Amino acid sequence: MSDLRELYQEVILDHNKKPRNFRVIENANRHADGHNPLCGDNVSIYLDVEDGMIKDISFVGSGCAISKASASLMTTVLKGRSIDDAEAAFQKFHDMVTVESDEEIDPDSLGKLAVFSGVREFPARVKCASLAWHTVHAALNAMEEPATTE
Ligand code: ZN
Repeated sequence: MSDLRELYQEVILDHNKKPRNFRVIENANRHADGHNPLCGDNVSIYLDVEDGMIKDISFVGSGCAISKASASLMTTVLKGRSIDDAEAAFQKFHDMVTVESDEEIDPDSLGKLAVFSGVREFPARVKCASLAWHTVHAALNAMEEPATTE
């Protein structure tokens, strides 16, 4: 388990150092801002959605390593997927970081997202990890209010 944890740590550090899809999409047709006041994380998500498919997704923002790595990893997972897939992934991620820690989670069903399973043990970090997901959820549902983890 500690090897796995180390690997997860590496993935998070790598995405923090070299965030993927870290840019603004000029012709984005969906956009939302998210804020986690507890830690001071800010994220803006941009999407180019066509025929129910996420053709392109990007983010910009500032925050802690967990929030940035989570946003980065999320964009790589959601790019090219349908909106339905994205909503299912949002639910899965949400369950993964919030369910009681004695509940078993199948890491295989989560793919790359499993790297954030460890944050369950750190409640303050759950909001950092889920901020980008709440924000993309808001963008896809065209919510008027900025997303917040509160
Ligand atoms: Zn944070």
